[in-house]
Amino acid sequence: MPIVKKRYRCWAEIDLTALRENLLWLRHRVGNQVKIMTVVKADAYGHGLKQIAALLMQSGTDIFGVANMAEAQTIRSVGKGWPILMLGACLPEEIEWAVKDEVMVTISSLEEAQRSSHAARRLGKTLSVHVKTDTGMGRLGIRAEEALTLVKEITALEGLSLAGLYTHYASVEDDPDFSHQQADRFNRLLSQIKAEGLSIPMIHANNSGALLHGENTVYNLVRPGLMVYGILPPGKRGINSSLQHNLRPTLSWKCRVSLVKNMPRGVSLSYGRTFVTPRPMRVATLTAGYGDGYLRSTSNRAEVLIGGRRCRLLGRITMDQMLADVSDLEQVTCGEEAVLIGEQGPNRITASEVAQWAGTIPWEVLVAITYRVPRLYRGGHAS
Ligand SMILES: *Cc1c(COP(=O)(O)O)cnc(C)c1O
Repeated sequence: MPIVKKRYRCWAEIDLTALRENLLWLRHRVGNQVKIMTVVKADAYGHGLKQIAALLMQSGTDIFGVANMAEAQTIRSVGKGWPILMLGACLPEEIEWAVKDEVMVTISSLEEAQRSSHAARRLGKTLSVHVKTDTGMGRLGIRAEEALTLVKEITALEGLSLAGLYTHYASVEDDPDFSHQQADRFNRLLSQIKAEGLSIPMIHANNSGALLHGENTVYNLVRPGLMVYGILPPGKRGINSSLQHNLRPTLSWKCRVSLVKNMPRGVSLSYGRTFVTPRPMRVATLTAGYGDGYLRSTSNRAEVLIGGRRCRLLGRITMDQMLADVSDLEQVTCGEEAVLIGEQGPNRITASEVAQWAGTIPWEVLVAITYRVPRLYRGGHAS
């Protein structure tokens, strides 16, 4: 379905049908016994939190994972009643907010637990918490050896309800041995908790990478982010899970050709003069730059699609414009579309490919897209 876009210089198209189908496929694969927490931090990985949250609510997400309270509030503004877990640590002044908005928080220490208990009691409410255990990520979480004690302490604290226990893999896309060690530590803790006669409703460990590499450790909740948006996490380990099939990227990123020029041999292009034409070239100026979030570190490496063909970027990417080699194209028209991420004709450029050119990861490519780039939604229920 064509959408009006000729008014834009640089924009992202979000395919809500693809998003829905990615979630349905994931649901099909994990079954109905396993809850799905869709991770929507950083403005839903740059896709736009409100629209993505609304669509995910309609498509069967059980829980949302966010990084901070502002994101939780945005989800609340879209629909009431969905459980939300704040994956980041709650700052002292944010706890009251979490209690009032009924956002579940992540607990990594007794101090955090006591602070939360205090806030909940003061407001006369109960706060649901998930204990996080550090099995090898070394970021949030209580060390696995101390987690049982914390779990017991929390069950004794007033105002808190222990809703979940989780951990996070550090290198699941690259290092099977270390990931198995992490899973072992987590499993040992789960046995200890069981032996104590304690039961915790939600047990979870798997982000996208762990879902694709270690489906045997699904527990009863999964936390996919990247794959919900149709992108596979890159890594050294080959993925052989059939979960990787049927996922479609939800985001395309486009701009326009604003000028086409013939350049002689031997002239330098753009700031810093990092590219000198080796022969006469036809060069197109494009209406996107690092001010839109297109990473400058891809300069002289990245490709874009124009007229259905791959065209290399020439010289440094600037704030609002960049240059592409269109010498091989028969015809280039001022105003025509250039694709930064997405499909055109038989070709496709993925966020992972852009990430490789930039020496980074697809997550960063997506969340780097700035507010200047309007997100246009199609499909799903938004059409
Ligand atoms: C971001 C995040 C996820 C989702 O990760 P993906 O790799 O995007 O699937 C899951 N769990 C936690 C704790 C996270 O911070």
